[in-house]
Amino acid sequence: MYDFDLVLPASVAEAAAAMKADGAQALGGGQTLLPTMKQRLASPEVLVNLSGLSELVGVSSASGTLSVGGATTHAQVASEASDFPGLADLANHIGDPAVRNRGTIGGSLANNDPAACYPAGALGAGATIVTDKREISADDFFVDLFETALEEGEIVTGVNFPIPDVSNYQKFVQPASRFALVGVFVARFGSTVRVAVTGASNGGVFRWSDAEAALSKDFSADAVNGLAIAADDLIADLHGSAEYRAHLIGVLTRRAVQAAS
Ligand SMILES: Cc1cc2nc3c(=O)[nH]c(=O)nc-3n(C[C@H](O)[C@H](O)[C@H](O)COP(=O)(O)OP(=O)(O)OC[C@H]3O[C@@H](n4cnc5c(N)ncnc54)[C@H](O)[C@@H]3O)c2cc1C
Repeated sequence: MYDFDLVLPASVAEAAAAMKADGAQALGGGQTLLPTMKQRLASPEVLVNLSGLSELVGVSSASGTLSVGGATTHAQVASEASDFPGLADLANHIGDPAVRNRGTIGGSLANNDPAACYPAGALGAGATIVTDKREISADDFFVDLFETALEEGEIVTGVNFPIPDVSNYQKFVQPASRFALVGVFVARFGSTVRVAVTGASNGGVFRWSDAEAALSKDFSADAVNGLAIAADDLIADLHGSAEYRAHLIGVLTRRAVQAAS
């Protein structure tokens, strides 16, 4: 690990000011960033610790929206997001207890790992990512692998999730990492259904529009029968071929619809 300075801001305003320093980087739960620094693959000169900021921590719901602070841990979402059980269940299956008790929703979304769970939840629910500067719709937030619409120094302060009528996340776990080999989040709002897929695409999390159209007409597992995703742009690695991932997307979508129903 290279040397760095650690800033412990007392407010989001202080954190935003500290993020203007050359080489500054936000520190959430450190579950991704710290191992990367230990391997000397990242060398921020200044770490701005967000996880101690109480104004960034918490889960609340009002008027059909669940709001989660940007530095809220996965464990807290799992135990407190009871108004949105599909999201609570997603958070409860991230990594292991150590990861869930340190990792944060803001860190997960900002990192945008192609196999992470929260990007599927945020895109599948049509969430809004709130930063210290603006609000970004999930449809615009996830740009590419490990790339988001966040600008240099921008801090995820919270996420607003419209609460669906029913929802479910199905993850086919890659057992060595516990990330998703493939994960599918399904959410139904009235007659409108959103389906987001993680772990599968070379472009990162994406919406499966054919499944959304079919499920919006008929919210049943059978409605997905006969639909298929082309394997061409899907991830192929030692854990699974592109064709295997394409197959899993259909299976997990049907399971998610069944579980949500
Ligand atoms: C063993 C293991 C298993 C895991 N399994 C899963 C899994 O099953 N599913 C899953 O989804 N994830 C999994 N993770 C990842 C975990 O969810 C982490 O929480 C996540 O990668 C990063 O969150 P963090 O708060 O630790 O962020 P950090 O590691 O602190 O930071 C990650 C990146 O986000 C930036 N950042 C952090 N917070 C903010 C913020 N509020 N605003 C802007 N930028 C910010 C940092 O600068 C850095 O670039 C796993 C991790 C480990 C180590």
